[in-house]
Amino acid sequence: MTVKPLSIAVIGAGIGGLTAALALRRAGFEVAVYEQAPELTEVGGGINMAPNATRVLRSFGLTAGLDREGVRPATTHQRRWQDGRTLQRAPLNPLCEELYGAPHMTLHRADLLAVIASAFPAEHIHLGHRLVALADKGDGVEAWFENGARITADVLVGADGIHSAVRTALFGEEAPRFTGCVAYRGLVPAERITDLGLEIGSQSWVGPGAHLVHYFVSRGHLLNFVGWTEHDEWNREDWTDRATIARALAAFEGWHPQIRQIIAAADTCFIWALFDREPLLRWSVGRTTLLGDACHPMHPFMGQGAAMAIEDGAALAACLLAVADPAEALSRYERLRLPRVTRLQQMSRANKTRFHLPDGPEQEARDAEWARAGDRSPDALRWLYEFDPAALEPVSA
Ligand SMILES: Cc1cc2nc3c(=O)[nH]c(=O)nc-3n(C[C@H](O)[C@H](O)[C@H](O)COP(=O)(O)OP(=O)(O)OC[C@H]3O[C@@H](n4cnc5c(N)ncnc54)[C@H](O)[C@@H]3O)c2cc1C
Repeated sequence: MTVKPLSIAVIGAGIGGLTAALALRRAGFEVAVYEQAPELTEVGGGINMAPNATRVLRSFGLTAGLDREGVRPATTHQRRWQDGRTLQRAPLNPLCEELYGAPHMTLHRADLLAVIASAFPAEHIHLGHRLVALADKGDGVEAWFENGARITADVLVGADGIHSAVRTALFGEEAPRFTGCVAYRGLVPAERITDLGLEIGSQSWVGPGAHLVHYFVSRGHLLNFVGWTEHDEWNREDWTDRATIARALAAFEGWHPQIRQIIAAADTCFIWALFDREPLLRWSVGRTTLLGDACHPMHPFMGQGAAMAIEDGAALAACLLAVADPAEALSRYERLRLPRVTRLQQMSRANKTRFHLPDGPEQEARDAEWARAGDRSPDALRWLYEFDPAALEPVSA
């Protein structure tokens, strides 16, 4: 007698939801994805995919797509805001592949999403489906959508981002908190900045109350930049008119000429306010669980938010394969994942302070520490990059 595979509904088709859908389908489950937007989209420009994430994606057969769309930065380079002095510099590629069996890559988000989506059957992605309610019936979960559709699945996974409706349904209403950080983001055609002679690498400039990161995406045709600044309040209406190149330049007044040239070379830039939540103590109730930003949004200052969502998908599939009872499998998944993502949430948050120190003794101590320890070097991040999310035994984060 053949056993019918579990049916799994994934809510949200972002990087986390689609990767989980792929992982679950490859594990033999019947998967359907429900996305509120009328089409698959990713806002923003670039994204770093560290080796812990690219290794998972490659294991799902996405190597060719990643190689086609992605860039392999040779180095990561931390610099001082005003004079450009090197604070740390470390090789990334090919070292990451040698150490961890997968490269560090930088990609345009839309390209990454398209690569992941290309491996999952489009007919199982239901666009224009905004989840509004759900109910655990004990032997399955029912979900309702704004368009009137209603579904039942054996397991429901909320991969619906920081404003997750699934999280609210499970744990109640709780507004995300403004972190005090606002980013100016832009993309610059590479041919406009050839005179800078930038190597194919990632640079991160730190200064008082701000930092700016840039790296190449889109097969090297575009340079992505994200410049973070600190502000007390966020009011969307007040800020919408501030997303101009002139505003971004004003925010980085006095910074190194390379930074100012990069910002000035963009046609447009847009503003992104960063929100946060406290770590949750649990993610699952019965046959419903959460994944990615829905349960562990983090400051992007370790470049690991999407990577953790990708790992979640691999871990979830492994747990549902290994444990027959769905609710038990979800508890196991959450127990495996919580220590690691909570650690990264805390480290990412602490980096805001570390990166934004005003010039003075603390900043000098940080710079000396960076020069000595090289904490961005891939061999110093073994605990992060070597991790196998599909291993079912808890390891020390
Ligand atoms: C500036 C910036 C830079 C970053 N850089 C990096 C980086 O370099 N590396 C890295 O790993 N991470 C990075 N991150 C973090 C990363 O972007 C996020 O952690 C990741 O995109 C989260 O993916 P997700 O799929 O969990 O959520 P989301 O991307 O938010 O996707 C959620 C999806 O659910 C849908 N949805 C929402 N509500 C509903 C509903 N009710 N019904 C149906 N669908 C719904 C949404 O439309 C969306 O498609 C960065 C973040 C920021 C802000």
